[in-house]
Amino acid sequence: MSEISKLGEFGLIKHLTNDIQIKNSETQYGIGDDCAVLRFSQEKDMLITTDMLMEGIHFDLTYMPLKHLGYKSAMVNFSDVYAMGGTPKQITVSIALSQRFSVESMEEFYSGLRLACDHHGVDIVGGDTTSSLTGLAISITCIGEVEKGKAILRNGARETDLICVSGDLGGAYMGLQLLEREKSVYYDQLKKLDKLEGEAREMAAMEIAQPDFHGKEYLLERQMRPEARGDIIKRLSASGVHPTSMIDISDGLSSELMHICSQSGVGCRIYEERLPLDYQTAVMAEELNMNVSTCALNGGEDYELLFTVPLSEKDKIESVEDVKLIGYVTKSDLGMALITRDGNEFELKAQGWNPLKNE
Ligand code: ADP
Ligand code: MG
Repeated sequence: MSEISKLGEFGLIKHLTNDIQIKNSETQYGIGDDCAVLRFSQEKDMLITTDMLMEGIHFDLTYMPLKHLGYKSAMVNFSDVYAMGGTPKQITVSIALSQRFSVESMEEFYSGLRLACDHHGVDIVGGDTTSSLTGLAISITCIGEVEKGKAILRNGARETDLICVSGDLGGAYMGLQLLEREKSVYYDQLKKLDKLEGEAREMAAMEIAQPDFHGKEYLLERQMRPEARGDIIKRLSASGVHPTSMIDISDGLSSELMHICSQSGVGCRIYEERLPLDYQTAVMAEELNMNVSTCALNGGEDYELLFTVPLSEKDKIESVEDVKLIGYVTKSDLGMALITRDGNEFELKAQGWNPLKNE
C-alpha cells in the first residue's frame, strides 16, 4: 500500500488523471486549470469548476458563522471562474449534514450563499442534500462563461512578461491565526471554570474575557468574508490589458506561481519589497513572531488574482487600481526566486497549504 501523503494533493491528482484521454471535441481544456473549458456555442466558451469544503478541515464552526461560511463557499468558486477571465453564471450546491444542524442554521448558511450570488449575479440552479455522520460537507459547482477562445490559462506566461497580483496577501492567514489563538484562550478559560463550583464558578464565568478584535477587523474579514475579484477582471478588460496567464491565490503565492511557471515552462523573479501587504497583516505577523513575507508567500485563502501581462502593456497595467507589479517572467533554467530586501536571491519553494499533508 502507498501512502497518499507521499504524493501530496497535486501528486495524487496527477497520478490519478495523467492518462485521461479527451473523447469529446467540445472539451477544449480538461484537468489542470482553475476551470475546465467547454465549447458548445460559436460565441462563448463555458467554464466549469468544483470545490469541496469539509468541516474540521476547511472551516471551524466554533468561530465561523454559517452565514459567512455560505458566502465564502460561493466566493471560492466564483474566484476560479474569474481566474479564467470569465463571469460566473450558475452554481449547484450539495450539502451533507449531521443531526446537530437545525433548519435555522441551514437558513443562515443559505442567506450567506444567496447574498454572494446576488452580489455576483449568479443563479442557484440545483444541488443535492444528504446526511453525514461527522459534520458538514459542502460541495459547490460553478458554471461560467467567457468569450470564445479567450479563457486565460495557467500556461501562457512568456519570458519578459510582468507578474502582477491584485489586493494584498497574507491577511486571510493572519485572520485564521488570530481566530485560532482566541479560540484556545477561550477553551483554556472554560477548562479552568470546570474545576470550580458554586459561587466561585459563577464569578469566574462572568470574568471570561471576550476576544478583542479591535484593530484587526480587516484580518477577520479576509478570513471570514473573502470577495472574489470580478472587479479586477472588469478593470483589466476596460484598460485594454491582455493577461497571458492567470490563477487565483487559494494556496499561497509561491504555490500558485509554481503552477504558472511549471505549466508555462518558464521561471520567475519576484521582489520581496513589492509583495502587497496590509498594515494589519504586518502588525499581526509581528505579534506572532512570524516573518510577514513568509505569510504573504505561503498563507492561503487570499482569493486574489495572480497573472502575467506582456511587457508592452506595462503603462496600461500600472494605471489599473489595486494591482501591483511584483516581478517578471524569466527563462525556465533560471528557476523561481525571490529577491529579498537586501538584494539576495532566495529559491522559491511552494510550501502551499496542503491539507493532505496533515491528515
Ligand atoms: P483550484 O485550487 O484552482 O480549485 P485544484 O488544485 O483543486 O484547483 O485542482 C487542480 C486541477 O485538478 C483542476 O483542474 C481540478 O479540476 C483537477 N482535479 C482536482 N481533483 C481532481 C480529481 N479528484 N479528479 C479529477 N480532477 C481533479
Ligand atoms: Mg484556483
